[in-house]
Amino acid sequence: MSMGDFNTNFDSEIKVDTIKWVAEQMPGGFFLYKAELPGEILYINKSALRIFGCNNPDEFRELTGNTFQGLVFPEDFDKIQDSIDFQIQTDQENKLDHVIYRIIRRDEEIRWIDDYGRFAHLPGYGDVYYVFINDITDSRMIDHERELNHLLSDALRESEAANKAKTSFLSNMSHEIRTPITTILGLNEIIHRETKDEEILSYSEKIRRAGTSLLGIISDILDFSKIESGKLELVNVKYTLWDMIADLYNNIQFRAEDKGLGINLEIDPRLPSKLIGDDLRLKQIITNLLTNSIKYTEKGYVTLRMELINANSKSADIKISVSDTGIGIKKEAMDKLFGAFNRLDTRRTHTIEGTGLGLSISQQLARMMNSNIEVSSVYDKGSTFSFVIAQAIADPDPIGSFTLEGQKNATMSGTGGFHFRAPESRILLVDDTPMNLEVIEGLLKPTKMQIDTALSGAEAIKKISIYPYDLVFLDYRMPQMDGIETLSEIMKKLPEKYDSTPIVALTANAVTGERERMLDAGFTDYITKPINLPNMQDMLLKYLPDNKVVETTDEEEEAEDMSELLDQLPDAIFDIDWLDPTEGLEYCGTPELYIKGLELYTKKIDDNAARIASLAEDKNIKDFTIAVHALKATSRTIGAFDFSERARALELAGKRGDEELILRDTPLFLQDYKAQKPELLKVVSTD
Ligand code: ADP
Repeated sequence: MSMGDFNTNFDSEIKVDTIKWVAEQMPGGFFLYKAELPGEILYINKSALRIFGCNNPDEFRELTGNTFQGLVFPEDFDKIQDSIDFQIQTDQENKLDHVIYRIIRRDEEIRWIDDYGRFAHLPGYGDVYYVFINDITDSRMIDHERELNHLLSDALRESEAANKAKTSFLSNMSHEIRTPITTILGLNEIIHRETKDEEILSYSEKIRRAGTSLLGIISDILDFSKIESGKLELVNVKYTLWDMIADLYNNIQFRAEDKGLGINLEIDPRLPSKLIGDDLRLKQIITNLLTNSIKYTEKGYVTLRMELINANSKSADIKISVSDTGIGIKKEAMDKLFGAFNRLDTRRTHTIEGTGLGLSISQQLARMMNSNIEVSSVYDKGSTFSFVIAQAIADPDPIGSFTLEGQKNATMSGTGGFHFRAPESRILLVDDTPMNLEVIEGLLKPTKMQIDTALSGAEAIKKISIYPYDLVFLDYRMPQMDGIETLSEIMKKLPEKYDSTPIVALTANAVTGERERMLDAGFTDYITKPINLPNMQDMLLKYLPDNKVVETTDEEEEAEDMSELLDQLPDAIFDIDWLDPTEGLEYCGTPELYIKGLELYTKKIDDNAARIASLAEDKNIKDFTIAVHALKATSRTIGAFDFSERARALELAGKRGDEELILRDTPLFLQDYKAQKPELLKVVSTD
């Protein structure tokens, strides 16, 4: 090649050898190759050889075949060739074409190359490219890492945003789902209380179970997502161990009874009576373990054991264990036990309700309390779940022997009715949904309290300013002025009322921190919707003035219920001296059914009397006996006890074949029977 063929602008004479020497020593890589493929390399300098890891042109030739095509990483070749062609076509004066490609070095390492080149026509050589190259692998790696980091942080931001969206979706969903369930369960409680019809009672019981279980699933999903997003916080409060155990017992007693399982409570009498910790979450863990034990046990018993294993003046280590005599867990399944949504042994458990979240939540809660749930199990024999928990001591007085009889509350909850009356007390219910007010009012009806309602914060404030309330239930979520705003208005405008009136927040929200938020805002307490009877009863007994609360016994409640039902009957019924409406109601269940029964009875009197008379005359003793037997039963159900006894006497005579007695007594019996009609027509009509 002759450098003299180039047109240069240099005036001074410089030797070609000198130029070649410079090219050779240049720190940057430089080479020259024929444009025609495969691009024979005409010249390559030392730096370029070094980039390829070669010490001399021979090594380079061996590595690449001394062609441009041979030196580029095969996968990249077509791409850069296209790019080069394109750049030549759109050629700009004095601008170098730029491509990036990979090469394989002599030590087999793949490197990234930055390539600036230019097409030229060299007389004697034809079309050529001259190229400056540089190994950019290291800086490219840094860029690559930077890019990766960028992508990662974008992804992180996106996933955080998605997580936030999930949590807010879940908390909204909780509200949206809980609100209608509140109504369903509340109205169902009213149905449950007001009906005596066995069939309807059993439907209502099923609604109660399904609704409660749906609520349980929602809370589980919420808890799980809260734990997942690190949003669940423990709240430590002072609590009475005795109450906690009674609550636990009450929560599971009915389930266990339903399955015919026994419950053993083994409570160490040395345990301190008052502790400090998150009692609700601790109860949640134990309830979960107990419910599982009941779910996965067919016969035998479930044991809750609490044992003091260590204590100093400030804190106590308590070992809590739940054992059962159930289906047990196979060794190989143990690993999956605490995983979310995992259910084991599905052949045996698929018919048992569950989401597979309970244990995962329990374990995570236990870990937050610096504990760990451990399992030991023998397949087909039973399992024991246990954990040791440290709780601060609020009152070191030992709990003593735990008996359920000692627990008034223990027997109170779960029985389905309020065990007190408070006709003297006046309370205010505030909720923007009339339906909710109706439900709560209906629930509270048996307490005989005077109940006022308000549909907004403003209305509530007005009422509180006028009337003396013993207790206010204030809905948290209301349009315009929400519960917290209403409360702060009351604090500001009616400070004496605020000081003297317990104000309890009603909330359907199970979101994180709700408890603390309500108490911080100044509420006396809070209760979640749907309101269940035991919680409501506890709340009322806690805050209503003692002198206005009269506790009742079962007998009193029954008598009261009955007198309420009797009140609904027409007055004329009480003038009929041969009829006992109390007995009639007991048979028929509701006033409506009783009246229906009376109507039917009255309608049939004429035909029935005629038929019995003719059967007696015909001496058809067999059919006569059947007819008076039926009359014995129907008269009994309407509360005509004496008349029913007379029918029974005739029935017995029929069975004995005592024609004489039948012929003697039947006419007077039928005369009295027919005389019932005009009296009954004063109470019911037969059209
Ligand atoms: P769920 O009970 O809702 O399915 P859990 O997370 O509480 O979810 O339990 C996960 C699985 O562990 C259950 O599905 C069941 O297979 C098994 N399991 C839990 N407790 C017991 C137990 N006491 N006896 C036998 N198996 C159990």
